[in-house]
Amino acid sequence: MYDLNGKTALITGAASGIGRAIGLKLAAAGANVVLTDVNEAGLKESAGLARDKGGKAIVVVHDVSDEAQWLVALDAAQEAFGNLHFLVNNAGISPWVDLFSTSLETFQRVMAINAQGAFLGMKHAIPRIAASSGGSVVNISSMAGLVGLPNLVAYGASKGAVRMMTKAVALECAQLRNNVRVNSIHPGLVDTPAFARLAEQLQTMGGADEAAKTLVPIGEACQPEQVASLVEFLCSPGARHITGAELAIDGGMTAG
Ligand code: NAD
Repeated sequence: MYDLNGKTALITGAASGIGRAIGLKLAAAGANVVLTDVNEAGLKESAGLARDKGGKAIVVVHDVSDEAQWLVALDAAQEAFGNLHFLVNNAGISPWVDLFSTSLETFQRVMAINAQGAFLGMKHAIPRIAASSGGSVVNISSMAGLVGLPNLVAYGASKGAVRMMTKAVALECAQLRNNVRVNSIHPGLVDTPAFARLAEQLQTMGGADEAAKTLVPIGEACQPEQVASLVEFLCSPGARHITGAELAIDGGMTAG
C-alpha cells in the first residue's frame, strides 16, 4: 500500500464496480476521495464504504458527458479539500450490439460518456492538478481500445479514442512541465455488474468466472480490486517515469 495522505482524487463512475473499488483503494491509502456518478444511491453506499476505510469522502451526482457538471464536481472537490491531485476517468457504458443494429443515438451516447467524458475531465481537471503541484490522470479504457472486438463497434471507437487522447495529453503535459502524468489502463474481463449484465444479455456465457475459463488465458476473471491496485500504483511516486503508457490488465487476452 502507498501513502496518499493529504492527496485528493476524483473518481468518476464510482457508484459501482471498478470505480467503487478505486475509490475504496485510494481512500484506504489515505487520499481524500471525490466520488462521482449518475447513480446517487450507489454513490452514497460507496462513500460509506470509503469512510469505513478511514478516508474522507464526498459524493457529487455528475453526468460526465455534461461540461457544466464537470465544473460543479471540480468546484466541490476544491471546496471540500482545497486541492486535486488525481483524476480517474472510469465512468463508462458498454452496449453489446452489432454494427447494423447500432443506432446513431447509441453510437453518440457511447462516445459522449466514454470519450467526451474523459476529454472534458482532462480539460478541466488538469489545470487544477497542476496548480496543486502535479499528480496523475488515469483513464480507464479497455482491451477493446487495443484490439477489435465484434459487437462493440461504438464501445471500441470510444475506448480507442481514450487511448489516443491519453498519449496526446501526456505529451502536452510533458511539454508544459506541469508534473501531471497521464496513462490509460486496458482491462479485459473484470467481474463487475457491467459484466454480469452483458453475460445475462448473451445468455450463453454464464458468470464472469465461467466466461473467464474460456476467454482469459490465465483462466480467471480480474477482480475490480486488482484494477484499483494498478490505479493506486499510477498515483504513487513509484510511477513518476510512467506517462503516455497503455497498461493492459487482462490476464493475457491481448498478448497473442
Ligand atoms: P459498472 O457498470 O459496474 O460501473 C460503471 C459506472 O459508470 C456505473 O456506476 C454507472 O452509473 C456510471 N455511469 C454510467 N454513465 C455515466 C455518466 N454519464 N456519468 C457518470 N457516470 C456514469 O461498470 P464497470 O465494469 O465497473 O466499468 C468501469 C469502467 O471499466 C468502464 O469505463 C468500462 O468500460 C471499463 N471496463 C470494464 C470491463 C469489465 O469487464 N467490467 C472491461 C474493460 C473496461
